[in-house]
Amino acid sequence: MADCLFCKIREGEIPADIIFENDDMLAFRDVNPQAPTHVLIIPKKHISTVNNLEESDEAIMGKLFLTAKLIAAQEGVSDEGYRLVVNCNEKAGQTVFHIHMHLLAGRAMIWPPG
Ligand code: 5GP
Ligand code: ZN
Repeated sequence: MADCLFCKIREGEIPADIIFENDDMLAFRDVNPQAPTHVLIIPKKHISTVNNLEESDEAIMGKLFLTAKLIAAQEGVSDEGYRLVVNCNEKAGQTVFHIHMHLLAGRAMIWPPG
């Protein structure tokens, strides 16, 4: 997608602190971290929101969770715990319309979330 910030990061057109990459996934540190560890994990495929998921995206969404597990281990937060967040559309706070999972860790999380 030409006008998508995360597609531009995927293409290397916008710099990011990339901590993981494979054929399907990319993970980089959030530019405005909300916790000591705040990583964004994206499928390389452009999908705007959860509402736009198709049946054929099933495997890629599974890989998104498996990548989160891997990154939690890489960041050393698996045992202490971490929060995974996917915002969908404006009211949930989605600001970048390329599906991404937030991995937040390093501080106590409150519930309910804001
Ligand atoms: P959303 O609010 O859509 O769930 O999350 C978008 C996230 O992208 C926000 O946490 C925001 O800080 C992050 N973000 C926005 N622009 C950039 C950028 O240029 N680089 C990086 N690394 N993160 C960004
Ligand atoms: Zn995109």
